Amino acid sequence: MTVAPATAATSSTGRPRRLSMPKLTRRLTNVVIHVDNDANVETVTPNSVPLRATKHEQLSEPTLQTWKKHIVPEKNDPASIESDIVHHTITTLCRGVYNLDKLAMYQATAHSVRDRLLEDWNLTQEALHRENPKRCYYMSMEFLIGRALDNALHCLHVKKNYNQSVDNLGFSLEDLLCEEKDAALGNGGLGRLAACYMDSAATQDYPTWGYGLRYQYGIFKQMIKDGYQTEMPDYWLNFDNPWEFPRADIRYEVRFHGYVATKINEKGETRMTWEGGDKVQAMAYDVPIPGFDTKGCGNIRLWSSKPLNTFDFDSFNAGDYERSVAEQTAAQNLTSVLYPNDNHLVGKELRLKQEYFFVSASLQDIIHRFKRAKCPWKDFPDKVAVQMNDTHPTLAVPELQRILVDIEGLEWDDAWDIVTRTFAFTNHTVLPEALECWSVPMMEKILPRHMQIIYDINLFFLQKVEKVFVGDRDLLKRISIIEEGSPQQVRMAFLAVVGSHTVNGVAALHSDLIRKHLFNDFIKYYGPDKFINITNGITPRRWLYQANPDLRDLITTTLGSEDWATKLDLLKGLKKFADDTKFQSQWAAVKYKNKERLAFWIKANMGITVNPDALFDIQVKRIHEYKRQYMNILSVIYRYQSLKKMSAEDISQQVPRVVIFGGKAAPGYYIAKLVIKLINSAAQVINNDKSIQDMLKVVFIPDYNVSLAEIIVPASDISQHISTAGTEASGTSNMKFVLNGGLILGTVDGANIEIGEQIGAENIFMFGVLSDEVEDIRHNQKYHGLFMDPSLQVVIDSIQAGQFGDPSIFGPLINTLTYGGDYYLISVDFKSYLQKHTEVDETYRDKKSWVKKSIMCTAGMGFFSSDRAVCEYADKIWKLKPFKVEA
Ligand SMILES: *Cc1c(COP(=O)(O)O)cnc(C)c1O
Repeated sequence: MTVAPATAATSSTGRPRRLSMPKLTRRLTNVVIHVDNDANVETVTPNSVPLRATKHEQLSEPTLQTWKKHIVPEKNDPASIESDIVHHTITTLCRGVYNLDKLAMYQATAHSVRDRLLEDWNLTQEALHRENPKRCYYMSMEFLIGRALDNALHCLHVKKNYNQSVDNLGFSLEDLLCEEKDAALGNGGLGRLAACYMDSAATQDYPTWGYGLRYQYGIFKQMIKDGYQTEMPDYWLNFDNPWEFPRADIRYEVRFHGYVATKINEKGETRMTWEGGDKVQAMAYDVPIPGFDTKGCGNIRLWSSKPLNTFDFDSFNAGDYERSVAEQTAAQNLTSVLYPNDNHLVGKELRLKQEYFFVSASLQDIIHRFKRAKCPWKDFPDKVAVQMNDTHPTLAVPELQRILVDIEGLEWDDAWDIVTRTFAFTNHTVLPEALECWSVPMMEKILPRHMQIIYDINLFFLQKVEKVFVGDRDLLKRISIIEEGSPQQVRMAFLAVVGSHTVNGVAALHSDLIRKHLFNDFIKYYGPDKFINITNGITPRRWLYQANPDLRDLITTTLGSEDWATKLDLLKGLKKFADDTKFQSQWAAVKYKNKERLAFWIKANMGITVNPDALFDIQVKRIHEYKRQYMNILSVIYRYQSLKKMSAEDISQQVPRVVIFGGKAAPGYYIAKLVIKLINSAAQVINNDKSIQDMLKVVFIPDYNVSLAEIIVPASDISQHISTAGTEASGTSNMKFVLNGGLILGTVDGANIEIGEQIGAENIFMFGVLSDEVEDIRHNQKYHGLFMDPSLQVVIDSIQAGQFGDPSIFGPLINTLTYGGDYYLISVDFKSYLQKHTEVDETYRDKKSWVKKSIMCTAGMGFFSSDRAVCEYADKIWKLKPFKVEA
């Protein structure tokens, strides 16, 4: 028996050479059906059958009773906790008092907390297994989780007792918390959003699992050397990670390369099969996600690539040991490293492989679970909702179609109906450089069958569009999933739209913009209802309850209960205290303490002294041109020049400022890295200039991550969210700062707009051009010359004069404003930006009015809880109900 390899997936017309379904031949008369009569007629089996242990249904009733007798809850009194920690030290870690250190003590403590967490995990997952409700799977290539211990202690309400127990054992719990390495499996906002949503889903008992990748190396560690960013690998798994469970019995095979063969199955139908190629194994690791105030505990299942348990004995025996191991190493490398690009596509083959590996393993797992209940395939969308976090998981669309048609033997149309009732897609960006496109030749090489399926999906979609818009060839070209060109490209966002029942943007403005521009043609065909908005949110547990204990306690005392932590709208109860002098001074004292905490961190870690009485002005986020950290540092230099022109007397009358930056630049993003250098060069000069009497300090905090954010966010007076209008889809750090009583200085962009609506225009500093003006301005600049703001020119001149070191370093950066055409409109917004800074200073002088604004900020943030956002997803998209487990 031979199987004919299909050579190329497409004909010269770019259409599929042949289609597998007889039904389709009716529609496509010009398509040649290729049938290989020698083909194997045996039924095709799924890629792999994982090992499974004995099922408890098979145990006799008395045996089950024996099990149940031994499942007793852990005790949470300090003595029991102490005993557990000691037990884990001796057994789990094999250590004793003679060789105990902080890290070991952290690990023992973490293991004992984990024991308590797992009671809830088992309870929840067993109940889900038994009742089998509809579930949602949140597919995300990134989960920026951060540390787990403190979060688990709060969720389980055991922190007080742990504090005492750890103290009794001679350590400080707060010290131990810092021993934990961040789980930094994400770049920035998108990955952190996934983590916040998992927290909210668990807290609200939604049966939701995350699926992702277990990168050996998360986002790189950033170090600053001589003012420049350098990158170091993030060895986060070097020590035991108590927050993951390797599931050695849950493994699936994932195929790459190979060829497409045609077979005739037992019913005499022609089926395509994907054969040959290389296989890699995916192994599951489970990360428990505690819910707050509930017995429910969620899960994120992360896949790690392992070599297949095959060994090339031929090369081994031929003495080529190296080659026989090389393939194994290549397989392992697949999930080694997280691509460190935020909002930027770098079309690397390994990245495409990661995306398919992720999607294939996750779908095999989901289908395995679905099949246990023996429901018919048409019920799949009633049991399974899949949310695609950006286009990274979009290959799930052709992959599910492939499984249903090629392996399960469904008809194309029936399969497609299931696919499109299962998936939903969240769009995160309109930036052209961030939109995923994969070249057709690369896809054909790595995923030949998927490429055929994508062509078919596109063909049938275009045929339907053509029926409605007869003869509109321009429309067909614009809306096609395949972009013509050499090479052709697959537009992943379009594939995601066509394969989903609902598409959402992440803030009101962003959802409007994608309806008006990116997906406008799709609305012509589908109508408007498929495209909705769900404004992002953040979890108030991590971002207030945990990160800002003093504010938490003040709010709880004032409102009379902790209920706000799960019903964030209750914060509006603070409004009636906004004018209360006593409350104001308590509020101000908390902010001051948080500023002292950050000042202490800066002194201890960077040796820079900053004054907590100064206005703390913070911009922390990924470094990107569209986020305009460059504009910020240029305005700082302007402020410095202004101070330099003043008399000593006038200087002493100014509002002192500490400007804090933090964030990583993608390692290959030259301009972003120069911005970091400019910030550090400016800091060097400004911080050491005695003549300005410490009225201005500049700090670049290295290696910004979730744990640092937990210290930085509560300490802000002002934070900056100053993207060029229309470029930041939502932003979430804006929400974190305002929730913690920090005012924001921002552009009319992303969620800034809705934050202003919720907290009141008088409590937010907004400036700059509007998103619908940007296109005209760019057009004018291109054809009628650049506008250079005079204040900005002064700043540029000072850099070029060498005031901040060798000016040749900054040439390429300055060129972005001049020869580069100032694409992000820094010059256009500069004047109104400086004006707002002056307004900020003046407002800050009136301490009473500032504190009131700060209170009104927190009080108005109920809407931005990720609990609200996840509820909206569950109601509008997933059609999912909470599933509550009882003790
Ligand atoms: C919230 C968060 C972000 C997102 O910040 P934006 O200002 O919304 O881009 C990025 N990184 C970390 C560590 C975060 O916690």
